[in-house]
Amino acid sequence: MDNLDQEQFRGQLSTVGEGGKRNWIYPKKPKGIFHNYRRVLAWLLLILFFAGPFIKIGGHPLLLFNIFDRQFVILGSVFWPQDTHLLIFLLLIFVVFILLFTVVFGRVWCGWACPQTVFMEMVFRKIEYWIEGDANQQRKLAKAPWTWNKIWKKTAKQGVFLLISFWVSHTFMAYLIGIGEMTEVIQAGPQANWSAFTGLLVFTGIFYFVFSYFREQACTVVCPYGRLQGVFLDKKSIVVIYDWLRGEPRGKLKKNEPQADKGDCIDCNLCVQVCPTGIDIRNGTQMECVNCTACIDACDEVMTKINKPKGLIRFDSEEGVEKKKKKLITPRVMAYSVVLAILVGAMGFLLVGRAPIEVTMTRTPGSIYQIKNDSIISNMYQMEMINKSFDPMNLTYKVKPKSAYLFFPSGPIEVLEGQEKDEVYVFVEMTRREFAKIDEKIQVEIYREDELIQTIDSRFPEPNTFSRK
Ligand code: SF4
Ligand code: SF4
Repeated sequence: MDNLDQEQFRGQLSTVGEGGKRNWIYPKKPKGIFHNYRRVLAWLLLILFFAGPFIKIGGHPLLLFNIFDRQFVILGSVFWPQDTHLLIFLLLIFVVFILLFTVVFGRVWCGWACPQTVFMEMVFRKIEYWIEGDANQQRKLAKAPWTWNKIWKKTAKQGVFLLISFWVSHTFMAYLIGIGEMTEVIQAGPQANWSAFTGLLVFTGIFYFVFSYFREQACTVVCPYGRLQGVFLDKKSIVVIYDWLRGEPRGKLKKNEPQADKGDCIDCNLCVQVCPTGIDIRNGTQMECVNCTACIDACDEVMTKINKPKGLIRFDSEEGVEKKKKKLITPRVMAYSVVLAILVGAMGFLLVGRAPIEVTMTRTPGSIYQIKNDSIISNMYQMEMINKSFDPMNLTYKVKPKSAYLFFPSGPIEVLEGQEKDEVYVFVEMTRREFAKIDEKIQVEIYREDELIQTIDSRFPEPNTFSRK
């Protein structure tokens, strides 16, 4: 590639034509071993996504992100806003995991597991091929006048796109409010739930717009992860790469012409034709490449036909191509792995130590101690309890030191239903004589049946503390 070409390729998006007009991409139907693997993984992910709201663990949802009631269920365990630190940890682990994968394996996430790619390439694009045919037929149809053939094909395609978007938005909503409530919303009809119905329509519209029109621009223009590739990738990162040492100088295969002075690339352009983001991978690693492997499959097929070894385009690093060897473990990979291991360990520790009940006990604002019968000191507290589990809890309470006792003016909370939140006022009382033996510290213990499930440390201020103020 000469200097002028280099500049043109660096300065212009493949999806934007002259004058800023969009170049619509018509990728050729991909086929090959990598595509087969991706298809299997995509179907597994799609099945998991659509079946997710119906899957229960111990009678509870597999995943629920109820932002309206601020309740989150992950793998059947319920998380409350009080568990935000755990969710932040989960998010951190996810980010470091993605970073680690990017440093080592480039954008493998984008090409193999990102919902945008999975839906675009394995659902919407497949429907397009099925109704309109391969790339050339699609191009021809786009240019053709509005005959009956074009009208029915375009209408059928957009209709199926809309139906899928509608289905996806319902599934998405089921992850937010739960499948039970979702079923009730559907049965009650739009007139009974205008807000939910409007939300469904808006999400359907966005989803339909992204996959029927916006398409690869979500990856090349909008996605922040894609735009950060320049920071994550180095010469050792494994990406979809063209072996320029083996392929260049490229040249068309011509009969009766010696190939000895040419590289293995026969400039057939098939790798460009199958690319869903419209780039030429022979120009080097580019931000637009989502590592979908379509060009690997296309080139391998060509190499097989011309009796050359496969892998002119392959998963490898820049250094791997230059030195002809792959090295996965680099100092950066080790550093990220250590951070990931620490985060996962901390997460495990927090999960194991997570109490099924969250109790806060604070002295009632504005209240001061009371002295009863001139001999008993009494302090009032407000106790707030959340049952984080799905099961009801029978609760009993004890206070330390043993000389103190608890008095609930409106009775203690004896049963706290699953996922219920309740609060109660409680007096801690103690004789003045006993009080002299402690240093203002008390502990309230909460038992489920006979099992101690929570201990709360608090202060029991002495009257003199206040009298001195
Ligand atoms: S498919 Fe392979 S041989 Fe054909 S242009 Fe691309 S790199 Fe060259
Ligand atoms: S260059 Fe190859 S791997 Fe990258 S997006 Fe295009 S076809 Fe997919």
